[in-house]
Amino acid sequence: MSREGPDSRRSGHPRVVRDPLRARDAARALRAEAGRLGFVPTMGYLHPGHLSLIDRAREACDAVAISVFVNPTQFGPGEDYDAYPRDLDRDVALAGERGVDLVFAPGPGDMYPRTPSIRVEPGRLGQRLCGPSRPGHFSGVLTVVLKLFHILEPDVAVFGRKDFQQSVLVRRMTEELNLPIEVVAAPIVRAADGLALSSRNTYLSEEERARARSLSRALLRVRERFAADERDARTLTDLARQLMESAGVEVEYVEIVEAETLESLETATPDAVCAVAARVGSTRLIDNATLGGSSSLDDMEDPRGS
Ligand code: AMP
Repeated sequence: MSREGPDSRRSGHPRVVRDPLRARDAARALRAEAGRLGFVPTMGYLHPGHLSLIDRAREACDAVAISVFVNPTQFGPGEDYDAYPRDLDRDVALAGERGVDLVFAPGPGDMYPRTPSIRVEPGRLGQRLCGPSRPGHFSGVLTVVLKLFHILEPDVAVFGRKDFQQSVLVRRMTEELNLPIEVVAAPIVRAADGLALSSRNTYLSEEERARARSLSRALLRVRERFAADERDARTLTDLARQLMESAGVEVEYVEIVEAETLESLETATPDAVCAVAARVGSTRLIDNATLGGSSSLDDMEDPRGS
């Protein structure tokens, strides 16, 4: 790619590399020159949620690499691989504004020159929450994340809590496979009305977008009821389900789970996480919140408005 230049660190334009071996060389050069390398894996079409992860990586490290790769092996048949929004030029410009040093943007053939035969299997954690409706998804995610880790060899990798199950699985993988990488889970960035930012929000019509607000609103209501001493998980999840269904959203699951094992709880605790997945029209959305403590939901504007 023509953007590959030798001296991009000072110019504010990240170096863009497609080839995995060249990316490894570029990442090693950054570590040698700058020090600790932070890494943010993405599927691109960057929004302020991604940018907050980049900021977090910058705070923790001396140089930052991101990947932009819509990974085919984590999409099931009939999912939105082809439709997924892509705009690498815009992503590179946004990354540059945020001080990113290296953008690794491979094509599918760069990452998978052969049909992949070796995969990371997530086990029971991968069967929880989104597991049943997305068979193979987390295996695809963990396999590509492991490949990206080996290619870029970061010191710190930053993931969003928005994809809560993914962040738990990646942390578990780094522990169980002894990877020398610190995994950081960063807070969910939301629109002013509470909707968790997602590249997939671009699929929503205006009317669907209004209905989609019921996910964060339901989580906010659950947190309020928890703060008012409701501890019965079933009562809390029923409340969330009703709120979303009455907004015309098709609920896939609402669960209150233990934050590390992802096992469903009968009695809610402050550290437990309420996780939801729902379809708004043909768009599948996920969201979650910890029941106690602070949450990005606390910053919601007009939380009760319609
Ligand atoms: P994606 O491009 O959707 O694969 O996301 C790349 C990374 O950004 C993942 O670690 C996501 O969890 C994270 N992310 C996506 N949306 C948000 C958000 N609204 N707030 C914080 N992190 C996010």
